Amino acid sequence: MIGHLSTMRCMYTIDLTDKVAVVFGVANHRSIAWSITSILRKAGANVALVYQNERLKRSIDKLITDWEDPVLVECDVSEDSNVKRAFDEISIRLGKIDIVVHSIAFANREDLGGRFVDTSREGFNLALEISSYSLLPVTKYAAMHMSPEGGNILTMSFQAAEKVFPGYNVMSTAKAALESEVRQLAHDMGPLNIRVNAISAGPVDTLSSRVIAGYSAMKKAAAERSPLGRNITIEEIAQTALYLCSDLSSGVTGEVVHVDSGYHVMGI
Ligand code: NAD
Repeated sequence: MIGHLSTMRCMYTIDLTDKVAVVFGVANHRSIAWSITSILRKAGANVALVYQNERLKRSIDKLITDWEDPVLVECDVSEDSNVKRAFDEISIRLGKIDIVVHSIAFANREDLGGRFVDTSREGFNLALEISSYSLLPVTKYAAMHMSPEGGNILTMSFQAAEKVFPGYNVMSTAKAALESEVRQLAHDMGPLNIRVNAISAGPVDTLSSRVIAGYSAMKKAAAERSPLGRNITIEEIAQTALYLCSDLSSGVTGEVVHVDSGYHVMGI
């Protein structure tokens, strides 16, 4: 149990004991998904990890040596049947699912630099299929295994969904689509009491961010020009994820929460 805040008259806690969380997108210890996994486990959740391929499983195995009876499931989200199979398998092992974290993105390296106008049709489709479309089957198949009380789905975005960040290119389009999906899925899932939200995070050093041309400039600008005058930490993303995955945010859905030192409010 963490996040304990008490006053004379009231007490709020974040206790995810008995909750089952499914986290997509751990590649290594730097992954945002790993930071979220750590905080969800500290809050008491039982976390199943969904990895892309055997190579990444070997990396994850090194991170979870102290886990008891880990549930690890392979799933490349480019096939809907893989997503269905992953949720079926996790549900057989752990029962009802309460929380799903979708922390996945991919684009060809050549589409993360140069001129956006030069993006190939194939590269465009690939980036949007993996980074945006995949939230639909993840939500659909997760919902089938969520309890009648509902659940939480969280995805990861970036401010390039709203403004131009040179070099982010096709991934900006993918994030704009993703944020639109969050709103539409929130509407679809609302009657099931399943909430769907996104975090729009400031730049943090990960395997994926390092391949973006212009990443260093983005990080420097955020540190120099954001209201807080610094870059965010990966733990700050995880803390907001914990809030969005808990009952403390029970009235919040279809929302994109910026965790970016306030950079998005600036005009210059
Ligand atoms: P990361 O490289 O650690 O994670 C990306 C994950 O996507 C990897 O685990 C990879 O296996 C997974 N993935 C890619 N293609 C897949 C596929 N076909 N099937 C299944 N999984 C697949 O990098 P990260 O920075 O932690 O990225 C996580 C999310 O956060 C992404 O959506 C990214 O756009 C977003 N984000 C990152 C930053 C940043 O600065 N790092 C900022 C804002 C948003």
